[in-house]
Amino acid sequence: MKIAIASGKGGTGKTTVSTNLAFFLCEVNDNVVYLDCDVEEPNGHLFLNPVLSEKIVSSIPVPVVDESKCDICGECVRFCEYKALVRLGKTVMVFPELCHGCGGCTLVCPQHAIQEQPREIGFVESGNSGKIGFVHGRLNIGEAMSPPLIRGVLRQIHSDGVNIIDAPPGTSCPVIASIRDVDFVVLVTEPTPFGLNDLGLALDMVRELGVPHGVVVNRAEEDNRDAENFCEKKQVEILTKIPDDRRIAECYSKGGMILKDVPDVRKNFEELWNAIRKRVKE
Ligand code: SF4
Ligand code: SF4
Repeated sequence: MKIAIASGKGGTGKTTVSTNLAFFLCEVNDNVVYLDCDVEEPNGHLFLNPVLSEKIVSSIPVPVVDESKCDICGECVRFCEYKALVRLGKTVMVFPELCHGCGGCTLVCPQHAIQEQPREIGFVESGNSGKIGFVHGRLNIGEAMSPPLIRGVLRQIHSDGVNIIDAPPGTSCPVIASIRDVDFVVLVTEPTPFGLNDLGLALDMVRELGVPHGVVVNRAEEDNRDAENFCEKKQVEILTKIPDDRRIAECYSKGGMILKDVPDVRKNFEELWNAIRKRVKE
């Protein structure tokens, strides 16, 4: 089973929900894996404190033009949708930072003048946090090409386990790369105008992808029904509401697991897991 935890914006508590759901599940399931796809700023390791045992460098293939073979026909330049190739006078220039490593220019070159060489974009580390399998990606500083690294993280999914995928925030390519093949997406929000606005964008995204989904309201206040009203209007199920509790904020600020420090939240994770299981079975 693959469950992604996503949010329309950062700071809603996505990693708190992901890491604690993995922690909750490892008590009843022997094969739970936490995969941090927020490769620009992974922080799941701060809460799970894994012992890392493997590191794989991630690269993408970028073109190198052999000028002795190139006749400046421009086929490769016309093919590249990302404008990573530019014809300048009698040369074809390559802008490696814009290249997505699709390999198309190499295939379309009639002169076989293009070779590929790897360009490192980051690395994938894996290990264990107690019984929980742990994987995260780290994108190199200044690097924009995160989806290939995210795919590297997702290659470590356990086909016979429960995989908790901590997706990057937002609604752009990195999030789509993280959630497009999952069984269920949990959208974490908070009952603020910004939180609900970005939840609306995230809902449009998951509905466009056709992935089953539900909402976790984090920092829910008893006298504030904005999130309930919003979800009712958008016809999306609230899976659980984690209360706005000072003990949770203090635990988070220390890099702790709220399931250990605030026992009351166990019922939230039971409720969340039961709702996910029911929806995935449907
Ligand atoms: S590999 Fe793809 S993205 Fe990169 S330059 Fe060639 S066509 Fe463009
Ligand atoms: S397609 Fe090949 S031959 Fe044509 S401009 Fe590009 S590298 Fe040169």
